[in-house]
Amino acid sequence: MPDNPITSEVDLDASGKQTGFLRLPHSTHQSAYGWIPIPVVSIRNGDGPVVLMLAGVHGDEYEGQIALSSLARDLALDDITGQLIILPMTNAPAARAATRTSPIDGGNLNRTFPGDPHGTPTQVIAHFLETVLIPRAHVMVDLHSGGSSLFYPPTLLRGKGHTPEETAQLLSLQTAFDLPYAWVFTSGGGRASTARTAMGAANRNGVISVMAELGGAGAVSQDILSRTERGLKRILHGLGMLPGYSPDAAHGTRELHAQGSVYARDAGIFEPFKDIGEPVDVGESMGAIHDPLKPCRMPTPVPSPYSGIVLAKRPPARVEIGDAVYQIARDARDV
Ligand SMILES: [Zn+2]
Repeated sequence: MPDNPITSEVDLDASGKQTGFLRLPHSTHQSAYGWIPIPVVSIRNGDGPVVLMLAGVHGDEYEGQIALSSLARDLALDDITGQLIILPMTNAPAARAATRTSPIDGGNLNRTFPGDPHGTPTQVIAHFLETVLIPRAHVMVDLHSGGSSLFYPPTLLRGKGHTPEETAQLLSLQTAFDLPYAWVFTSGGGRASTARTAMGAANRNGVISVMAELGGAGAVSQDILSRTERGLKRILHGLGMLPGYSPDAAHGTRELHAQGSVYARDAGIFEPFKDIGEPVDVGESMGAIHDPLKPCRMPTPVPSPYSGIVLAKRPPARVEIGDAVYQIARDARDV
């Protein structure tokens, strides 16, 4: 057993449907012998794949937290073949505070892997995932959204695969999830990955993994939520773990490669000219930044450094220099 202070109330080696907490010891002024509760659900029934599903790695991303809770309630033990492990609030302190980073240590869990068993709470969580939970899994699904400062249409994120077999497995997860977009990474991945993300941890452990961006703007979209819940069941069915489920017809997924982000070069109020899915050319004006403190000054233009389509957009109007206001991607077949 790796050296990590987290203990689990749920016996992950046992059959059955269990729910409880991962206990992260945290001694504070208010609670000398206390621990931070990180909810965990295990549904294990016979032999089959082990799937780890995460949400709340960033605490201000909500669809995944709801979708995984719904899945945990919906699925009975007899529905499942294999094991499904669910963490709906992976960085629980951040999720309870509804912030991207932890209010305890400022940690951004998805920039903290491989973590540190002797470090801050966020570092301990990362280390527990990297060395205890992820190595148990065959497949990991990590659910995100744009958080407070971005909005994404439902988008699967995946590597391109380092072997034909891995590529085929990633494609079958993408097809099963059946989100409108897939953002396919053109580099990285593999066991030599140095990425500080949960996906990096999965790659280092040889675990097939996908992420998803599911809305954002600090809110919940019912449409995206139902699309997510449908996709998760389709994934489990595709892996042979939900034999009684009957998937409906797939809608199809548009594969994209990210080109980069468009940044505010001025502070003020951002007026967007483009919406998600709209095409854009290099140099085209994508918006304007207004400064009502200087009403007679012309607004600062926001030209696109890329051509492609708008994949993500910043909903909050107030911007500072360096804020990402859009992300641009291109159809994979055009790159
Ligand atoms: Zn996120």
